Amino acid sequence: MIGKVIISVFSTILSLALTGGVVIVFLVFWEETPLPNAWNPRTSLRVQDPITSITGFKFSRALRNGAACTIALKSAGSYVELPTKTDGELCGIKDHILLSGIGNMYVKPVNTRCQTALRVAMWTEHVIQPAAQRNLNTSVIETHHFSSYNCREIRAVNNSGTKRMSTHATAEAIDIQGFSFADDTRTTLLEHWGDGSAKSKFLKEVRDGACDWFRVTLSPEYNSLHADHFHLQHTGWGLCR
Ligand SMILES: [Zn+2]
Repeated sequence: MIGKVIISVFSTILSLALTGGVVIVFLVFWEETPLPNAWNPRTSLRVQDPITSITGFKFSRALRNGAACTIALKSAGSYVELPTKTDGELCGIKDHILLSGIGNMYVKPVNTRCQTALRVAMWTEHVIQPAAQRNLNTSVIETHHFSSYNCREIRAVNNSGTKRMSTHATAEAIDIQGFSFADDTRTTLLEHWGDGSAKSKFLKEVRDGACDWFRVTLSPEYNSLHADHFHLQHTGWGLCR
């Protein structure tokens, strides 16, 4: 008797799972699927879409090559595509773009790699703007940066070279020094990072959130070289400080 009940429960679960699987396959592969973009693994990443459990998959796919990256960036970024920049053996920019904005936020035109810009776009949409609303009741209209591309070695605190090239040498990083808001105020890391104000709270949330969208995030808490900017990197090994 108990055996029969177990078999019937098991077969019910199995048939529900199979039906569910068929429905999911149908929803994903049907051309006119009612699945929203944020849940559809076949469509490209759209920066403004809400975060779902497949955003990470779509984001990684968009970062994999220049063509996929520019398609995704088109949903939010203002930019022009430029030819690959080659600058000696160690420097240059692949998937080269000139970025000038993300949504309504102006960015002083910056030569960078599409992947770096796409990470900035996701960070802007899902971290910076919500943090500005939450903490300061306004929105960010400009991000101030210290550029992305710079053919140089990694700097050391004692000002000596390190003989290792910086990720800036391939525009796989960008340095952000502050933000301007729609209410005509602005913030910089140098002014507000440690002063305990609402702007300081905003900056700390923005740093914490950057760790979700960049492989490496360095802030004033990392070392004195980063007292006035966030160093945000497309490549690297998960440093978040
Ligand atoms: Zn940097």
